[in-house]
Amino acid sequence: MLTKITVGSLETNCYVLSDDETSDAVIIDPGADGDMIIEHIKQLGLKPGLILNTHGHFDHIGANAAVKDEFDIDLMIHGNDVMLLSEAKSHAAGFGFPGTPSPGPNHTFKDGETITLGSMKLTVVHTPGHTPGCVCFYKEDEALLVTGDTLFAGSVGRTDLPGGSFPTLIDSLRTKIMPFDDNVRVLPGHGPGSTIGHEKRTNPYLVELREEG
Ligand SMILES: [Zn+2]
Ligand SMILES: [Zn+2]
Repeated sequence: MLTKITVGSLETNCYVLSDDETSDAVIIDPGADGDMIIEHIKQLGLKPGLILNTHGHFDHIGANAAVKDEFDIDLMIHGNDVMLLSEAKSHAAGFGFPGTPSPGPNHTFKDGETITLGSMKLTVVHTPGHTPGCVCFYKEDEALLVTGDTLFAGSVGRTDLPGGSFPTLIDSLRTKIMPFDDNVRVLPGHGPGSTIGHEKRTNPYLVELREEG
């Protein structure tokens, strides 16, 4: 089962992926509103086993501490974004928001790594550009791609924040996102969902890459 909870001032999408048989659950980007996320998980009777972050920005990690404390589970993020976890307060202040720093990760993952929880398998796809440690999570059996702030419906993540790089982002889109099949569902960090096919046809950044290829 896939559920989405939209949290915080920047309306970040927190996704909960769970195994229908065992109720094992992965929580992706608990960005804020920890109480709401915890309540949601308890109401569904899920057994949370892992917290994953698509990247280290404050609006994606703000409830890491609350959710980790409540369920006593591991936290994972790409190594390149670990520094951002402790900088959430100052980063958020730059946007005029309070920020909650995150505890450090129990594990830092790398491109291509498979994360397993019960029978669930997610592949880490490193897509730097918005931040150096941005990743997408691909669940092959359900053709789901959680894209964080790398790819949105109709747009891509900004690259003007510290550590961001537009050429790096375009390279990630070209080499990591374009190869996905059209039927793969896109679950972005903000805003509505989409599919890879729809984005290849309508997202100006992907249209341009399709035309050059
Ligand atoms: Zn971000
Ligand atoms: Zn964001």
